[in-house]
Amino acid sequence: MNLNSETIKKDFRRKLIHMFSEDIEGASTLHKYLAFGSLIKEYCAENWLKTNKQYRQSGKKQVYYFSMEFLIGKLLRSNLLNLGIEKECEEALKELGISLSELEEAEMDAGLGNGGLGRLAACFLDSMASLGIPGHGCGIRYKYGLFEQKIVDGYQVEIPDNWLREGNIWETRKDDKAIVVKFGGRVTPIFEEGKLNFKHEDYDQVLAVPYDTPIIGHNNKTVNTLRLWSAETVESDKELDFSFFKHGNYSKAVEYKSSVESISQVLYPDDSQLEGKILRLKQQYFFVSAGIQSILRSYMKTRNPINDLYKYVAIHINDTHPSLAVPELMRILIDEKGLEWDEAWNITTKTISYTNHTIMAEALEKWPISILKNLLPRIFMIIEEINRRFTDKLFAKYPNNWAKVNNMAIINNGKIRMANLAIVGGHSINGVAKLHTEILKRRELSDFYELYPEKFNNKTNGITHRRWLLQANPELAKLITKTIGDKWITQPKSFIDLLKYAKYSSFQDKIYEIKRDNKVKFAEQVKNKYGIVIDPDSIYDVQVKRLHAYKRQILNLFNIVHLYDQLKQNPNLDITPRTFIFAAKASPSYYLAKEIIKLINTVGNKINNDRRINDKIKVIFLENYRVSLAEKIIPCADISEQISTASKEASGTGNMKFMMNGAVTIATLDGANIEIRDAVGDENIVTFGMTAKEVMNYEKNGGYSSRELYDKDSRLHTIVNQIVNGHFGVPSAEFKNIYNHLIERNDEYFIFKDFDSYIKAQEKIDKLYRNKTKWEEMCITNIAHSGIFSSDNTISQYASGIWNARRVNIK
Ligand SMILES: *Cc1c(COP(=O)(O)O)cnc(C)c1O
Repeated sequence: MNLNSETIKKDFRRKLIHMFSEDIEGASTLHKYLAFGSLIKEYCAENWLKTNKQYRQSGKKQVYYFSMEFLIGKLLRSNLLNLGIEKECEEALKELGISLSELEEAEMDAGLGNGGLGRLAACFLDSMASLGIPGHGCGIRYKYGLFEQKIVDGYQVEIPDNWLREGNIWETRKDDKAIVVKFGGRVTPIFEEGKLNFKHEDYDQVLAVPYDTPIIGHNNKTVNTLRLWSAETVESDKELDFSFFKHGNYSKAVEYKSSVESISQVLYPDDSQLEGKILRLKQQYFFVSAGIQSILRSYMKTRNPINDLYKYVAIHINDTHPSLAVPELMRILIDEKGLEWDEAWNITTKTISYTNHTIMAEALEKWPISILKNLLPRIFMIIEEINRRFTDKLFAKYPNNWAKVNNMAIINNGKIRMANLAIVGGHSINGVAKLHTEILKRRELSDFYELYPEKFNNKTNGITHRRWLLQANPELAKLITKTIGDKWITQPKSFIDLLKYAKYSSFQDKIYEIKRDNKVKFAEQVKNKYGIVIDPDSIYDVQVKRLHAYKRQILNLFNIVHLYDQLKQNPNLDITPRTFIFAAKASPSYYLAKEIIKLINTVGNKINNDRRINDKIKVIFLENYRVSLAEKIIPCADISEQISTASKEASGTGNMKFMMNGAVTIATLDGANIEIRDAVGDENIVTFGMTAKEVMNYEKNGGYSSRELYDKDSRLHTIVNQIVNGHFGVPSAEFKNIYNHLIERNDEYFIFKDFDSYIKAQEKIDKLYRNKTKWEEMCITNIAHSGIFSSDNTISQYASGIWNARRVNIK
């Protein structure tokens, strides 16, 4: 974009007057942010229009990425960077006495996701736009995003995330594109003109109103669309609404309205457990139906034959949450477009593809027939028919093999298995890292792999290096550009050119200085917010991610308590000072996770105030982990903690962000950690613990006893006892769940089993860090190899390997 600071200043003043009748001197920071952001949206409007027009004219395939979650974070800075006007804007604002970073602080995070799955969707949007692929997001415009976390007396307290409070300048409401979604009612088969049709009556209508957000590609004029749907009452029902009012039944009128609106009210604060709530099923059908109806509406305008839909449209579902896309597309093709079953099935299976995100049994979605049938009677009939035809085929192929058919059936034991529906109803299923895909093929989904080997493929997750390096770590980005040029911004694999500087001491010094500056700034913020002094020359050892037993924050904490015990015995213990940094939200109903938060804070409080240990270690728990906090902490990290029980973390993406910012990973051989190791080599990562095979072997055959280790290893014994005997100054009952989890319930995630090798790995890190030259070489090697984990790379593979989608260059 061609803009100079004079134009920007003039436009900005105009915006402020237009929106608030204020001038720069009188406007609050919030108003300045709102006006400035609106101006940036205006700057991209023309390209947005152009992109849509040229997509239509090109006749190229459109990709729709359906996801219950989009964990976007803030958009101001990334929009400026992608428009290529960051410098000009910063300069213009500066001339007006305004700092861009102050305006950034006024923006609220769009936290419409829980963690990795939602952030992946957001990274994919950036990469699709930046690669010029016609790819759009489809999801829900939750009025409340993931809760805001406060820590009060060491406990997590949840506060509603009213992120739309001040309005959302990036979105555009499109009333004229609203869609009606139907729930409940009765379906009756009727025979008309020699054809069987299905009449749906007495249903409830919900109006899905789209809000579109521009997704700006990096310096390529492309502006794709994220379409999020909001639930409202339909116009004709407003009369019904009104009739309640007229007859004085106000509460009923209000009740009706709020029951409809509740569909897009809140994000479920859980990404690893199946929430068996009817409202959640409503949410899923709501956005899937609205999304698919609107895709077909625009497809019908192209006048391409309906049978060719899959040549022009790809629908990708992010985990099974949108898997009702399969029966919904079937419903529209059969009931509304009049196709025969086989034709509709051919189109549907060629259009839809699915990503599996987890093998954890409790996260595999299953809906009771009774619920789904009542809420979506026609959809249920279609699922039944899909299942009938599928199981017929299975019986023909595997005569008398009941076990196999049972295992693969879509409907089983009174429940509908959404993963099975997505696999049968789509043409592709992918895992999100090599190990994860292998586990799917060999174990969890081996029967499906045998039946449909051609559907299975791997697409290792990625992150957008533009947000996670260019934006989050501007000084490092500048140094990289100065060293190897700026082609890495569009071709991240060229990070590899840094490899030849890994041993240059002057380059090492610069890398060191940048990290140290980041650490100093962060230490100041920690001091201001938490009143805790941390030493920028200590190792920043960081574990930030959702709180979950399988991610093993407890293992990290056990190392800390163990170190503390040693320091108490010997305050002069020769260790490099360390600052252990945590941040994590726990699902509000996940009591074990909440107890772990309290334990981290309790241990931290004791350690941070213990004078005897000479500030050798500190423990900080950062409140309210979210995208904007991740952007601040990751560029400061020396150590990246990726210590999940092997086989449990499908991929991880936090691991990639840290690596790209020059942290060294301490890792189990899990998810994408393995691919990081393969890229950087054993000498540039510290690995420990059981392999996935060993873990799965124990799970299958038993033979693990945590109590045995507790009795045998005095270190474990001491730590566990300290947790429950009041050693840390809180009543022993506080951590009962943790104790039970580890001892009574046999340590499901093998913390005790991996404890010893984790301690040794941490000691190894302490030694490595003392050799500054070697350490910086490790950091640089990690950055140099991080290009393969750019989501640009991942998306290129989705586009060619799954979607068969090509770029459209916007002119
Ligand atoms: C990247 C990211 C995650 C995922 O982190 P993992 O370590 O892969 O679990 C979660 N939350 C936020 C805010 C992120 O930016």
